[in-house]
Amino acid sequence: MLNFEKSKQAFKESSQYMPGGVNSPVRAFKNVGGDPLFIEKGAGSHIFDIDGNEYIDYVLSWGPLILGHADPKVVKDLQDATTRGTSYGAPTLLETELAKKIHEIVPSVEMMRMVSSGTEATMSAIRLARGYTHRDKIVKFVGNYHGHSDSLLVDAGSGVATFNVHDAPGVPKDLAYDTLTVAYNDVAGIKNVFKAHGDEIACVIVEPIAGNMGVIPGTKEFLQTLRDLTTESHSLLIFDEVMSGFRAAYHGAQDLYQIKPDLTTLGKVVGGGLPVGVFGGRRDIMEYITPDGPVYHAGTLSGNPLAMTGGLSTLEQLNDDLYKQMFARTDELTRGIKQAADDHHVPVTVHHVGTMWSYFFNKGPVNNFADVQKSDVDYFAKFFKALLQHGVYTAPSQFETNFMSSKHTKEDIQKTIAAFNAAFDDVSEG
Ligand SMILES: *Cc1c(COP(=O)(O)O)cnc(C)c1O
Repeated sequence: MLNFEKSKQAFKESSQYMPGGVNSPVRAFKNVGGDPLFIEKGAGSHIFDIDGNEYIDYVLSWGPLILGHADPKVVKDLQDATTRGTSYGAPTLLETELAKKIHEIVPSVEMMRMVSSGTEATMSAIRLARGYTHRDKIVKFVGNYHGHSDSLLVDAGSGVATFNVHDAPGVPKDLAYDTLTVAYNDVAGIKNVFKAHGDEIACVIVEPIAGNMGVIPGTKEFLQTLRDLTTESHSLLIFDEVMSGFRAAYHGAQDLYQIKPDLTTLGKVVGGGLPVGVFGGRRDIMEYITPDGPVYHAGTLSGNPLAMTGGLSTLEQLNDDLYKQMFARTDELTRGIKQAADDHHVPVTVHHVGTMWSYFFNKGPVNNFADVQKSDVDYFAKFFKALLQHGVYTAPSQFETNFMSSKHTKEDIQKTIAAFNAAFDDVSEG
């Protein structure tokens, strides 16, 4: 058995000063039981906790680290950037350089604003959509997560699901009232909402590939219906690609499905592990932002040189070959997991798109949040802990996504599949 004594002590102390001992709730391991691991360092595909235990890491800071931990070029570029100062609150060449790079990879983003988190990106995109259309209502899907701003924290998936928060205390009723929610992948449901409210809807915001209730791809019909309905009703379609951008596919889910949203939000990979979010899209809409237009947006540290360097250094290293390798590894891993579960007669549904993957202890099909809820969370909790013992760190929740990085080797994949087999053995033996 691994020793977690130092993490246990550290958690006791952090709990004195931070609610739940953490700065973001899912880190607290609440829904798998036990105490969270405190991390000392990361290197490539591996992380090390403060007790000296080593794990193959598939959380990767919840998505950003597509090049793994402490990528040598990212580290070097950040070190160099730091010596020139960390922020000026004035324009730098780096911001335009990153904006050009993002536009090159995601061409629908003609103009953009850099912010410091995914939450800020979606919040700002929603305000822009409301300002542009002069409408108040927005539509989101049950189990989709778009950060923790008021309008979007309704039926918001993972973190919220894990902690059983159905409505969101602290969100004014009037704001919640303007957020209409529909089941994910429910074509008839969204058509009904547009029939009733079409001319009041500012925008539809959607994760084209849902990643905050485990991985659930949107169907082509569903996403095309959203495109058609919003166009007909003169409301805007926002693809929240904070997770799926640079992950589901190099050019994002919008390239995979060949559907062009009006606005896109990005985050996670776009900062390469530093705090960056982006909202952008059609030029005529983005020109509504201050100082060109009337919709206010600002940020003291928006586009700061360190964050821009983290993003640039990461995006510059991405290419088709790297994606081919990561996709093949994800394929191999998820096939191995399915096989391991089958061999142990454990009902499982394994989903993966690009470098995003998740396993549900659920015989399936898993197409929306109601399906996800039928998963065996007790089995998951036991399994997660067994997997840790075998040196594999996956998301500590049945409702979260795991990731692949460019640093995961064939050997890592083989070791991980062996660990899954061993964990299934342990759990079935009780
Ligand atoms: C993570 C995430 C967010 C929020 O981003 P933060 O940087 O955590 O604020 C928004 N939307 C999606 C789809 C996400 O996965």
